Amino acid sequence: RIGCSEINKNGGAVMTSLYKTPVSRLNGIGEKRAALFARLGIKSVGDLINFYPRTYEDWSNIKHINELEYGETACIKAVVATSVNDTRISGGRIISKTAVYDDTGSIQLVFFNNKYISSMLRQGGEYFFYGKTSSDSYGMQMLSPTFAPAIKGTQIRPIYRQIAGLPSKSVESAVRQALSMLPSKINDPLPDAVRERFDLCPLRQALFDIHFPKNCQQLETARKRLVTEELVVLNLGMRNLRDHSRGVTSLKITKDYSEEFESLLPFTMTNAQKRAVSDCINDIINKSSPMNRLVQGDVGSGKTAVAASVCYTVAKNGFQTAFMAPTEILARQHYKTFQRLFENTDVKVGLLTGALKESKKKQIRKSLADGSIDMVIGTHALITDKTEFKNLALAVTDEQHRFGVAQRAKLLGKGNNPHLLVMSATPIPRTLGLIIFGDLDISIIDELPPSRKPVKTVLRTSAMRGGVYDFIRSEVKHGRQAYIVCPLVEEGELDDVASAEEYAADLMLREFPDIAVGIVHGQMKPDEKDEVMRKFAENEYSVLVATTVIEVGVDVPNATVIVIENAERFGLSQLHQLRGRVGRGSSQSYCILISDKGSRTTRERLEVMCSTNNGFVIADEDLKMRGPGDFFGHRQHGLPQMSIADFADTKSLELSQKIADYIMNRYGDIRNDEIRLLKAEIDRLFDRGGQNALN
Ligand code: ADP
Ligand code: MG
Repeated sequence: RIGCSEINKNGGAVMTSLYKTPVSRLNGIGEKRAALFARLGIKSVGDLINFYPRTYEDWSNIKHINELEYGETACIKAVVATSVNDTRISGGRIISKTAVYDDTGSIQLVFFNNKYISSMLRQGGEYFFYGKTSSDSYGMQMLSPTFAPAIKGTQIRPIYRQIAGLPSKSVESAVRQALSMLPSKINDPLPDAVRERFDLCPLRQALFDIHFPKNCQQLETARKRLVTEELVVLNLGMRNLRDHSRGVTSLKITKDYSEEFESLLPFTMTNAQKRAVSDCINDIINKSSPMNRLVQGDVGSGKTAVAASVCYTVAKNGFQTAFMAPTEILARQHYKTFQRLFENTDVKVGLLTGALKESKKKQIRKSLADGSIDMVIGTHALITDKTEFKNLALAVTDEQHRFGVAQRAKLLGKGNNPHLLVMSATPIPRTLGLIIFGDLDISIIDELPPSRKPVKTVLRTSAMRGGVYDFIRSEVKHGRQAYIVCPLVEEGELDDVASAEEYAADLMLREFPDIAVGIVHGQMKPDEKDEVMRKFAENEYSVLVATTVIEVGVDVPNATVIVIENAERFGLSQLHQLRGRVGRGSSQSYCILISDKGSRTTRERLEVMCSTNNGFVIADEDLKMRGPGDFFGHRQHGLPQMSIADFADTKSLELSQKIADYIMNRYGDIRNDEIRLLKAEIDRLFDRGGQNALN
């Protein structure tokens, strides 16, 4: 076992050495347990200390039995009145009941399927019981309460995220041990000056109190300190990533080709598109620092054309541009669009994605390095070390929220301080935007191309699916197309692939024997995906059964129906993105959400979709309602995973911004030795989830 003295010798490195101490060094944690901890992301004793409770049970606020209300979760202190009575019911299950009392009354406790209750609760013994009340014809009950002998004293109990084989209680006792390994004095990543100025408690105190607070006050103090620190660390890390924007650009782009570009388009740009283009051109031609601009516009507002215009001007001035898309499907679609747009010009367009043959990739990379390709569209393949440019002057990221911030930084690193254009349909709250982009300029496309009709959205249950299929048939008869998004939890899981394929097979056989149905999912080879998407785009398939691989960017204007199965599994912003696949042409389009989940909150969430087509309103509701895969889900903003901070917590975001400003003013550089522990925390945060871009 590791002794405290060993750690003490090197006060400054305390947490660092605990991150190197495997959890298996703790009592009672063998290899098997250690593997379970690893599944929670906990490998070291330090990780364990940073594994904060998911929630707390307030055992400090004891209620009298006669004060209890139906349906509330509360803690009582009561004496067991009768011996526990076990009843066997069907399936060999057991229901255990007993009555308990305090000075004010009595209540029945009911436990399900725990044959040990009778040996754990002693008649006449006094315990704390914590649980939810309900009622049956005999009066009030408490269902499956947790309990502890009353002698232990009142407290707030931590509840940890648990998995099979590793209940919260086991995590708790491991955390107790881990905390006992902290020496009496530990060095704090936040310098004293910062802590005192912003009223933040010392790290050691915060670590103890976040796990085992004696009261709510202590818990709040600890939480404030840890949340603030984490956001400060994020803030500083992000600043470090985007330092590029401060320099002066040496790129000589002088002539505006946006008018010439418009003559290549098959349509007239909306005024909002024109404004966004001229914002960009002005940045590039007239400003001394590189462009750092976000073009934000709802799905279908025509962001691609804006980006293409800026790319064209840069290319005609003799420089290269790189356009990065988050998925293979989208990259290929953009490539085709650009190829078509520029086929009668002298601009050379290339495609670089991971799926290309090695020889093909090599050839493209060579052309990028020697400058024979002007514009390259691609996926993450663009940012691998092997890709080099002759004179990259503009980096574009499409669907920015799908990229890690580190990836954007890497793309920028391919040029000498190039201009940056990011495009997103997801509105980002201002405070969070400041962290992600810093002083980013924003152009908003607040106008849809003319002759678009708002998508009609309805909510249906699976019992009504027959009608839904009839509707698809009639749309197809009129020459239009439909997407069906399959009941998938997450793309890339094998079971789900089976279910998507089964679903499609079933559809073809039973429902649409005379209709061409295609299927596309994440496990298919890129060439196969490409082929299916091409056929769908050319209306060789009338119906496309798809997973969320079509979520972003896919553009087939002739598709007028999207059916989303198990709609409750998606976040609102994600549903909005999916819905954006239709309503891209001039025909009336429809979005049909199928869900059997009857809970009120689920209904309310889905009804938001039916009541508005406005992405901003939906993002707002998403914030309030926080469903699955919501805006603050990792993949919606590309920030590293937080262990305690919450991106919806505007107040803490603002405070952290202030503190980060203060630290930069006072210490000048995050490499300053006085804040080396803070730098270590930055490296740790950005290391998580493979986002190591700081080095
Ligand atoms: P998003 O903003 O979601 O990326 P796209 O750039 O994919 O939108 O554009 C959606 C569709 O609208 C495409 O088919 C595109 O060709 C078309 N489009 C874009 N701008 C206009 C316009 N000004 N007039 C008519 N159609 C347009
Ligand atoms: Mg797009």
